Amino acid sequence: MNNKLDFGSLCVQEWKDLRTTPPHQLPIYATSSFVLDDLEHGIDIFAGKAQGHTYSRYGNPTIDAVAAKIAALETHGLDKTASALLTSSGMSAIATLAMALLRPGDKLLTQGNLYGGTTELFSQIMAPLGIESIFIDLGNLEKVEAVMASNPAIRMVYMETPANPTMACVDIAALAALAKQHGAFSAIDNTFCTPYLQQPFRFGVDFVVHSTTKFLNGHGNSIAGIVIGLDQELMATRVAKTLKLTGATCNAWDAWLINNGLKTLELRMIRHSPNAMEIARFLAQHSRVGRVNYNGLPSHPDHELAKRQMRDFGGMLSFEVKGGLEAAIGFIKKLQFCTMAPTLGDVDTLVLHPASMSHVNIPSEVRQQYGITDGLVRVSVGIENAADIIADLEQALA
Ligand SMILES: *Cc1c(COP(=O)(O)O)cnc(C)c1O
Repeated sequence: MNNKLDFGSLCVQEWKDLRTTPPHQLPIYATSSFVLDDLEHGIDIFAGKAQGHTYSRYGNPTIDAVAAKIAALETHGLDKTASALLTSSGMSAIATLAMALLRPGDKLLTQGNLYGGTTELFSQIMAPLGIESIFIDLGNLEKVEAVMASNPAIRMVYMETPANPTMACVDIAALAALAKQHGAFSAIDNTFCTPYLQQPFRFGVDFVVHSTTKFLNGHGNSIAGIVIGLDQELMATRVAKTLKLTGATCNAWDAWLINNGLKTLELRMIRHSPNAMEIARFLAQHSRVGRVNYNGLPSHPDHELAKRQMRDFGGMLSFEVKGGLEAAIGFIKKLQFCTMAPTLGDVDTLVLHPASMSHVNIPSEVRQQYGITDGLVRVSVGIENAADIIADLEQALA
């Protein structure tokens, strides 16, 4: 056949798939569409009567494999199964879930100390669409109960624990139960923990979202997110449809990078936690350091709660450099080994100044209220040798 084709036509033709034995590693399916066997096959797939990939915005083998793997990790050891959809970012995972489940007139109950982008999404994008968010302290369960009782329109309780950057925790089981009692969905951003440290489905939550950009990928080389849900029917209908029609799908290359990162997730988390613990202890005894926010320290107000919900305390911490803004900036400028970068969860240690970076758009009074003082520095502790990290912090504090 090929010999009979014109040279130009031969250039255009896709070569036949020469795969014999299965690849050891997940292939990157860099294809926008899939070839249908015949017209009937196509009709059956589009009618939902047959399984099959058709178009990569609807699904792609690379992307689906990684989504399924993360769903398996979130339900590992539990008598539950979940389905999952990878998205183009953590933000699109949150937006997809909210758009899928909430309608104008519905309300969302959440905490004031969310990831900054999530707060802005809820108050600046969803509120004008008629979905109001109520921001309260989700640590105060009586208040949650009272607000839910007087607001029957609340259809979702959305939490993030531990929260950025003070590592404040909320009680997942109690909040999921209150949501259920009032006929609302419960959802949680599990980005800081990953399923290695915390499995929210264990505590009765309906949906988990992640920015896979962070610890799940672990190497800082892709932006993506995921929505995971126990209700397979809802996932396959409302959530999948919202994702398909807003087009916030992940791509095969980013999915593959997450897959590569996932292989060492446990090893990385096993190193992040004790490293962060050692650094928290070093900081806590330093004369130039004020408060240290790390759940692993018995002095942290949420130490006991974190111990109940988390396997270990993770790689994230923050601390106050005595002397406010100038002292914090002076400290960051002197760092040589740690990197200043506005992300987290990478293998290397990253430092950020919340007041001037991640939380710069939040009014100063509100920031102070959530403990984000001018002298606060956030550290995403990496998996390097802790002694090298401490040496850098020490010389920068001197
Ligand atoms: C980074 C982050 C997000 C947003 O994720 P993107 O991948 O940047 O869109 C959401 N929640 C938390 C806790 C995050 O750290």
